[in-house]
Formats: sequence, C-alpha cells, structure tokens
Amino acid sequence: MIFRAPLSLPAARYRAHRARIDEAVANVFHSGRFILGDQTAAFENEFAAFVGTAQCIGVASGTDALELCLRACDLGPGDAVLTVAHTAVATVAAIERAGATPVLVDVDSSTFTMEPNRLLDTIQEYDHCTRTAKLPKLKAIIPVHLYGHPADMPSILSIARARRLQVIEDCAQSHGASLRDRLTGSWGNLAAFSFYPTKNLGAFGDGGAVVTNNPRLAENVRALREYGWRTTRYVSELRGINSRLDELQAATLRVLLPGLAKENSERRKLAGDYGRLLATTSLTLPQAGTNVLHAFHQYVIRSPARDALRQFLEVRGIATQVHYPVPIHRQPAYRQRLFIARAGLPNTEVAARQVLSLPMSPYLKQEQVRQICSVIREALEGS
Ligand SMILES: *Cc1c(COP(=O)(O)O)cnc(C)c1O
Repeated sequence: MIFRAPLSLPAARYRAHRARIDEAVANVFHSGRFILGDQTAAFENEFAAFVGTAQCIGVASGTDALELCLRACDLGPGDAVLTVAHTAVATVAAIERAGATPVLVDVDSSTFTMEPNRLLDTIQEYDHCTRTAKLPKLKAIIPVHLYGHPADMPSILSIARARRLQVIEDCAQSHGASLRDRLTGSWGNLAAFSFYPTKNLGAFGDGGAVVTNNPRLAENVRALREYGWRTTRYVSELRGINSRLDELQAATLRVLLPGLAKENSERRKLAGDYGRLLATTSLTLPQAGTNVLHAFHQYVIRSPARDALRQFLEVRGIATQVHYPVPIHRQPAYRQRLFIARAGLPNTEVAARQVLSLPMSPYLKQEQVRQICSVIREALEGS
C-alpha cells in the first residue's frame, strides 16, 4: 500500500475555489484599495452575522486580536489574566504583549480545555498569595476552544460573573464550533479569531478578527487597530497599534466563509470514520461533550507510546503533528516565571507527552483515513 500525502489545506482550498478566489483578488487589485475598504467592511458584517455577534473588527492576526481584546478592556500592566498552558504560545504571548501577567490553569483531560474546578482552585490560591505579596490583580479569563472543542463556557462564565472577571474567548481553532446551539465567539465579552491559512477558516496570509456584542469595546478595538484614531484621522485618542485585516485577505475570506459549515461537517464525518476504525484499539480517542458541535480543527488521539507510533507512521509517509509538545510554563521564554497553582498542571503535562494529531482536513479522502487507520493498527499490533 502506498499512502499518498494529502495536499496542504490552503492549496486544496485554493484549487476547490480557484475561479472565485482569482476573481476576488483581481477585483481588489483593480479597485486600488488595499487597506480598510469595502471588502473588509463586508467581511466584518458577514462574519459577525455568522458568529451571532453585533460587531466584528478585522485585524492582522489572531495574536493581535487577543492583545486588542485585552487592551479594549483597558487591561495591561498590573492586571493578571487566567488562561491555560496547553495551547498555542500565542495565547500567552498576547497577554504579555498587552503588558498583563498570565496565570495558568490546568485543562480537562478529555476535552483539553480549561477545567472549571481547577480555575476555581487557582483563583483561590492566587487570592491567598496576594495577602502576603503584591501581585497583579485578576481581571480576565481567556478560555481556549482547543482543537475545535468548545471550553465549558457556562461554568467558566458563572465563575467569571461571581468574580467580576472579563471573559475573552480564544477561538483561533473553533470557527463554527458550538455549545448548546450557541457558537464559540458569542459567549464571552469579546472573542478573538485567527485566519492563519491552516485554521478552519483560513486566509492566504495572516489575518484575524475580534467579535463582540459590546459597542464600547468594539469601538475601542476599532480605534486601537489603527493608531488609536477614533473619530478623526491623524488624531490618536488611544495609544493604538497598526493591525488591520487587508482587503486581499478579506476578499478571499468572503469566498470561503459560505463553505465553512460544509468543511466542518466533512471534518466531523472523517472524525467519525477515525472513531469507528480505531474504536477497538488501546488509543484514547477524542470525544465531543454533550450538546457540543465539534469543529475538529485537529483530530487528537492519546497514546502512552506516542513517539513510537508517530515514528512508525512517519516512515510510511503519514505525517502527524504534536500540538503541543512543550507546555507554555516549560518553554525557555516562560519557564520559572509564570504563576501556576502548587498542585501543578498534571493534565497538561500528560497531554504534552501523549497527544498526537492525526491528518485532518476537509479535503482528506475517506480512503486515506482508512489507510492511516490500518497503518496505526499495524503499529499497535507490532508493539
Ligand atoms: C493560531 C492560534 C493563535 C494565533 O493566531 P495567529 O493568527 O497565528 O496569530 C492563537 N491561539 C490559538 C489557540 C491558535 O491556535
């Protein structure tokens, strides 16, 4: 059997929508307008309608979107933000770029999203430490809907309300995922999306967006993304930055957005195939919680023999990934200096050792999934 590696997701998407993407891109070139024109404005309206929020502001990346969410809430030096260590480094980098201090919470071992009980413990322990030391004040929570699985928003929101904390959703991996029929991005005070090319909704370059129902926060993000200009050009009312979704990216995102739901259902179909074909193995398979519509940004299995399995697949031409091999608090740039509870982050540590992302793309063929699963079975039988 010869496994043929699938085309990269952005390339497959381009081929699937080539005529309309070429036309959209040519139209932008002919318009002569490349920054904050009609395409960005139209995409912002369409994406807000998709998520179910009043407002969407296009920005240059998902990392910028997170930073601008925090800054729109006036969070920065002297403030602390709770998030997870099992995530893309961007989540924590954005908190520090806003000038705030990250506080790390462990994840649930089955959904890999923030565990609400650990969130409570961490808040209590942090409070306790503030009695004897002067620490930044807890102001916000950033749950990450990792791999396309929504975090437990009802529990997180009730903790946030009791403690008057802002909630900013990291939706970089969860475009179209929902919980109780409500899309990720519509639960928190604000939410940040990334349109990095490999995301569930991906541009052909960098891009991101902030969504919110709060008009004041939306206005702050709009000003902050362009030098702090509010009503008058060249008059900075806030200390803003330059972070704009450009017209070429917005135009291609408008071509791809109507197909997002179908791409996500293809992902769920392939996840169902993986689930059936690997059901009787020793692997721990991903599961959607109750009332969850999983977006399967990644299909992540767990195995204590992860590295050997990965190697076996690699030799046979099947490329897998590890998201993420090193938790944030063990990365060279962050270790020894971030607040974590005394109990540590045990689920995060185990996840880093055991997770393996199998090939997942709406353009993957069912036949390819069958081949991948038969190689995995071969690997497990031989071990
Ligand atoms: C991709 C990603 C980001 C950052 O998005 P960029 O557009 O690459 O800046 C943030 N958080 C998570 C969980 C991500 O996967």
